[in-house]
Amino acid sequence: MHAGFPDFRLGKVLATSFTGTLSERRGNAVERIPTPHRLVDWLTVNGLAVDSCTTAQLDLARELRESIHAAATAAAVQDALPASALQVINDRSAQGRAAAILTAEGKRQWRLSSASCVEDALGVIAADAISIIAGERDGKLALCASPTCQAAFFDTSQSRTRKWCEMNTCGNRQKKARFHANQRKNPRSAE
Ligand SMILES: [Zn+2]
Repeated sequence: MHAGFPDFRLGKVLATSFTGTLSERRGNAVERIPTPHRLVDWLTVNGLAVDSCTTAQLDLARELRESIHAAATAAAVQDALPASALQVINDRSAQGRAAAILTAEGKRQWRLSSASCVEDALGVIAADAISIIAGERDGKLALCASPTCQAAFFDTSQSRTRKWCEMNTCGNRQKKARFHANQRKNPRSAE
């Protein structure tokens, strides 16, 4: 997309894909929506296209993102949900005016109240977070096993034993780290 910016990680769950726009939270954090334009890009690839975004709207988006991260993390470890995070999620949900539209192909689309209404898009993301934190969808919130990540993700595997937020990134890195650790312990085993 835009050279110089880190790629997006696209998951199947809108709310946790959104919290994934800040990755490696417990390591060297990578901000994937550093500018309003990047938020526009992210919303576009997630079916919530807007024409423009102000710095204030980007701030609202990041506040919502961190609130979802805090509430989803608390839910994953069965802690009390933080009141300030709930306030932000509920405010964003209440202020969004997006409408769900059914297409002729039987797909759901979101129609925003105006082409620049980032708040409507944030309302959709907040409502998505509410549905997974409230346990209304088939799956379970869990924390990524990578020590530098620990992102909250929504496990929809049948056994509910997924360990990583993403197999392609955190999963592979952990496997490689374990492989190298084993080689150090047992240098001959690799020969
Ligand atoms: Zn992870």
